Amino acid sequence: MAEPLSSLGLRKVINASGTMTALGASAVSPEVIAAAASILPHFVVMTELQAAASQSIADATGAEAGCVTACVAAGITLGVAACMTGIEMARIEQLPDTRGMKNEVLLQKGHNVNFGASVSQMIALSGAQVLEVGTATSCGAYQLRGAMGPQTAAAVYVVSHHTVQSGLIDLNTFCAVCHDGGVPVIVDAASEYDLRGFLSQGADLVLYSAHKFLGGLTAGVIAGRRDLVRACYLQERGIGRAMKVGKEGVIGVIAALTRWHTLDHAAIQREETRRVDLAVGRLRGLPGLRVTLEPDPTGNPINRVKVNVVPEQAGVTAFQLARRLGEGDPAIVVRDHHVDRDYILLDPCNLSDEEMEQVCARIADVMRTAPGPGRSSTPPSMADVWAEGIMRWPDTPRGRHAGTKKGDERPG
Ligand SMILES: *Cc1c(COP(=O)(O)O)cnc(C)c1O
Repeated sequence: MAEPLSSLGLRKVINASGTMTALGASAVSPEVIAAAASILPHFVVMTELQAAASQSIADATGAEAGCVTACVAAGITLGVAACMTGIEMARIEQLPDTRGMKNEVLLQKGHNVNFGASVSQMIALSGAQVLEVGTATSCGAYQLRGAMGPQTAAAVYVVSHHTVQSGLIDLNTFCAVCHDGGVPVIVDAASEYDLRGFLSQGADLVLYSAHKFLGGLTAGVIAGRRDLVRACYLQERGIGRAMKVGKEGVIGVIAALTRWHTLDHAAIQREETRRVDLAVGRLRGLPGLRVTLEPDPTGNPINRVKVNVVPEQAGVTAFQLARRLGEGDPAIVVRDHHVDRDYILLDPCNLSDEEMEQVCARIADVMRTAPGPGRSSTPPSMADVWAEGIMRWPDTPRGRHAGTKKGDERPG
């Protein structure tokens, strides 16, 4: 297909939101595209290809071994399954029936987040029982210790901007407590740059999305203890069959990891910093906006532009601003997790300078044509906005906010 967007009637997307599954994840790098294209015409023995991936993942992460699955969501399910079955084939074929196995999985309540689906549902998909530990905003090592018992099969730890960011157990302590009780720790690091740190802090399995920062095809990287990685891969003879990855996805991981090593990360950061500064320069001084920088909450080397909308001055809310940007053609998609707190974020990772200029120009445009100060309605939950919009599919909504009711158009 020569030009897929116009031939299918799709809008161009300017992605100021970061790396989002709903936007097709990554703009796949040329090296990964070439690697995928090179293997597609051939037959391969998949166990050999996955063994090559294991070596490549081990080199990149410092793990004993690795394998590739469909995505991190699948990796959570398979990692938990591996901890319940080990390499016993009869057990692997028995899942999701867990009779005769340890089947409880511990998860801090503040880590039970929605990344597009919920962490606890991905755990439960294996047949395991999720045991939430602590409260949404508070969890102590004594509570983790207290939750452990003879049925505990594994513990899952999530590193993400989605989680509650304070009041919970740090990874080092979490691993120490779990290992005291003989419980393996699975770290969901789907969207994290650090390929070695979580394993060196004691994680037994770590999961990364190939299609986020790595710029790969849609796939999930599992890295960790050799016995557990093997047990993950063996799930292909069971529930993992429903989550399998093709040869192009496996070679895509190998190529993405190779590329990651050759990237000049400092230079990329300088570029992104310049792009962020450019946006701040363009947006500062627009009436109704307060523009600052916000570092990534989990320590990824990204600063994002935080655009606070002051509704009393702006005449639009952050929610309305995000929606108007998303409705255009090209669609401009911003990080809208916090529109109910009156701000959006602009992520510099997937934008050219020219696109950042377009984003700023559109924001200025929306602000200029805003109907003028006046208090708006309370913003709806983004979960409801999304749910309403998707119910009409395959009638396609315009933008991510199309589920909104007509009355929400005007502030005041
Ligand atoms: C993106 C993400 C996932 C899901 O990753 P996929 O590889 O797209 O399945 C899981 N957990 C967190 C924290 C994420 O950010």
